[in-house]
Amino acid sequence: MKRIAVFPGSFDPITKGHENILRRALPLFDEIIIAIGKNDSKQNYFSLEQRKTWLGQVFDKEPKVKIETYTGLTIDFCKKMNATYILRGLRTSADFEFEKAIAQNNKIMADEIETVFILPVPELSAINSTIVRDIIRNGGDASPFVPHGIDLKK
Ligand code: ADP
Repeated sequence: MKRIAVFPGSFDPITKGHENILRRALPLFDEIIIAIGKNDSKQNYFSLEQRKTWLGQVFDKEPKVKIETYTGLTIDFCKKMNATYILRGLRTSADFEFEKAIAQNNKIMADEIETVFILPVPELSAINSTIVRDIIRNGGDASPFVPHGIDLKK
């Protein structure tokens, strides 16, 4: 059976933290589906198309990586894609508490799906998309925080 993982998130925008987690997870799986969650109640900064384009650019040389969008529960999307793993990054203890509740409840709802966590390398653990957006809104240079070649101009 193919080991397929879903890496869900907003990726608004993709950061070096996301990239690090995904690249290190690649040897563990046959396929990783980056799944951009579409949530009507969440106001995103960059358009879905833009976020998808950047993810495609960063991973265009990785045949194992696919990029999709989804609505609804992540476990339902996993079932639709025949994925039996959910990939998440753990930056902080706050992430841990939040992720623990989601992963344990997902396990109750879908026992066949395992959540796998990867810790970022220390120099990337302070990066998050919210900070990147704040830098951009205030006219700063966010390029040190995003993958090489990403042009953040809206
Ligand atoms: P969400 O909106 O669900 O928080 P994000 O797009 O912010 O989604 O993140 C998707 C995943 O990437 C989450 O598991 C998050 O913990 C992880 N992640 C984001 N930034 C980093 C980072 N700097 N280091 C490690 N993991 C990260």
